[in-house]
Amino acid sequence: MVVTSNEVRLHVGLSASPSITELSVTEVRNALRCPRSFALGRARGQAVKFPIGSSSLGAMFHRIVECVTRERDKAAQHGMSSAAEVDGEQAPKALADGLLRRLISELEATPEAATMPGEVDDLAEALRRLAGSLAPLGGWAAAEAMQSIREHAGCDLRAQLTGPGGTSALLVGGTEELVGLSEGGLGVVEFKLADEASEELDRAQGALYRALLQRALGIDAVPVLLRCNPQPLTTALSRADADALVERRILPLIEQMVGWSGSPENAPPTARRDLCPVCPVRAECGGTYPERFEPRDSTLAGAARPMPDVAGNLAIPPMIEPFVPVAYDMEGRMEAEEIGKRIVAELRRQGVNITIKGKPVGPRLVAIEVLCPKQRVAQLDRAADDVEHQLSDDDVRYERKGPRRFFVVPRRQPRPVDLATLLARKADYLRERPGRFVVGEGMDGDVIVGDLSDGSSCHLLIGGQTGSGKSVLLRALIGSMCHFHAPAAVRFTLVDPKRVTFGGLAASVATHLSGPVFYDLEAFLPALDDLVTEMEIRYERMERCRAQNVDDYNASSADKLARRVVVVDEFQDLVAVKSLRQPFIDAVKRLGAKARAAGIHLILATQRPDRSTVPGEIKANLCGRIALRVQEAANSRIILDRGGAESLLGRGDLLADLGQGLVRGQAPMA
Ligand code: SF4
Repeated sequence: MVVTSNEVRLHVGLSASPSITELSVTEVRNALRCPRSFALGRARGQAVKFPIGSSSLGAMFHRIVECVTRERDKAAQHGMSSAAEVDGEQAPKALADGLLRRLISELEATPEAATMPGEVDDLAEALRRLAGSLAPLGGWAAAEAMQSIREHAGCDLRAQLTGPGGTSALLVGGTEELVGLSEGGLGVVEFKLADEASEELDRAQGALYRALLQRALGIDAVPVLLRCNPQPLTTALSRADADALVERRILPLIEQMVGWSGSPENAPPTARRDLCPVCPVRAECGGTYPERFEPRDSTLAGAARPMPDVAGNLAIPPMIEPFVPVAYDMEGRMEAEEIGKRIVAELRRQGVNITIKGKPVGPRLVAIEVLCPKQRVAQLDRAADDVEHQLSDDDVRYERKGPRRFFVVPRRQPRPVDLATLLARKADYLRERPGRFVVGEGMDGDVIVGDLSDGSSCHLLIGGQTGSGKSVLLRALIGSMCHFHAPAAVRFTLVDPKRVTFGGLAASVATHLSGPVFYDLEAFLPALDDLVTEMEIRYERMERCRAQNVDDYNASSADKLARRVVVVDEFQDLVAVKSLRQPFIDAVKRLGAKARAAGIHLILATQRPDRSTVPGEIKANLCGRIALRVQEAANSRIILDRGGAESLLGRGDLLADLGQGLVRGQAPMA
């Protein structure tokens, strides 16, 4: 793609009529990140700069390029060479020096830049990369390219956009540059300083500029993203992808934004909770939407905790339903589309014609299911090795599941999975009975759930090495069981020999705990024995009422029994100590065999699932299995009776067998 100069400078379009809401492209970008940051910026009368200072650094980038270009003009007037015109090996260095000198002057004149060292580093790196990519063009061509960046910045456009419900808004935005493309046609260019962390937003912005140009001027331009950092990278969106993005994502959003402009209280929070700690309007958000910031020890589970009302009586506060974001993953679908085409092309090159049956997009992976005639399956299996090799940069893996064939590919930009969203999606299911829990989101987008009252998931064995997400998963299991049920319905005994897994959680589920967290394993054994005794007592009570299980008993008795759940992290420490090993195994055997109907359950987790730490007696009594990433296939076989967990991606990527067959999913990491 060649950037060519053109002389289009624009300030075109409609002017706002009093009845139509005017929105800027920056505001749309903010709303894509977090509707509340948009609504708060609207209330202030100024779009929020998110991340802080990003817009001022973008402007600084353009000023620097402009200054260096002006230097060239001045030098030319005096018949001298400027930094932008040096040829040969010295060219990148001379150009980078010129740009960085200007950056230093800009930083000296902008003291607030000192508050964002990370972004300034990005900007410096972007300038170095820009110099590195322009210098090979040769002195004058490099200078001309920079001139082009400077001359065509700032085409202001305005156009009316209408959402699917018929609500319109006047959209205002300034494009950075229009270029002629080597393959013909025009491109509308967005320069990006940073890496691809906000690729989805950048694509949406590019697509929006295309829509603006079309509607304001009838210009059919392809969105082009030019990134300088971490390496020069040009990404052009196809017209179809850009238009689909606008139709399906942006127009509905614009319609909602018009609503939030008038009623900011209706703006939902971001689904990306990782943004909140760095949000520039976090304080305002806390004041305007108080439910977003619960007390530090009041996590989701705290919703069911009794709290004093105004009269001083203890009562369970009304439940705040978590926000259910619109299920949408355009970025993932585009990624699946793109890798699907490459797999088809690669197989075709090897003489194997396949069709794609489906492309489920999970939070971390896309799975391309391929179909071919039965007699060609062996050929497909052979060719798949080569596809894996050819597409090894994308870490493509070929998987066979019975007669079905898949190519599984990790996503370049994973979609975060958070517990609040999963709880909201499965609220009815979880609320119905205590002991139900969420594990994560499956590759097909469904929420993976389990139920302790179910014979195939009444006790759980969980394994995963350090960094696999095991502790986060344990917290999510406990949080999801507490969230919809009061302490009278479900109570936990937590064992945490390392003292780090349940620290913060224990405070927020304090009323759901049977007692303090056990750090000392010797002290835990008598509690385990008490549970065995409790199980026997419960059986006697159930027998008197002729109840088959704890649910039957609770339905017919006023004196209800809570489900009791024992969660032991790093249980291998119990097995490793000779004096504790046999009593622990005996208790697990008794509870594992009989405790389900009595409403007592075990969740045992280990980072070292091997034969010595997970003896057969324990394994045989824990029917539900969840494996996170483990070191070797042998560890995977201990948990799942088959390999596979050694190839997981870590950080919550998991395989779960809760009685419905093995499923792969992503545990909530926020
Ligand atoms: S603090 Fe979080 S929810 Fe509130 S505006 Fe910022 S990003 Fe959105």
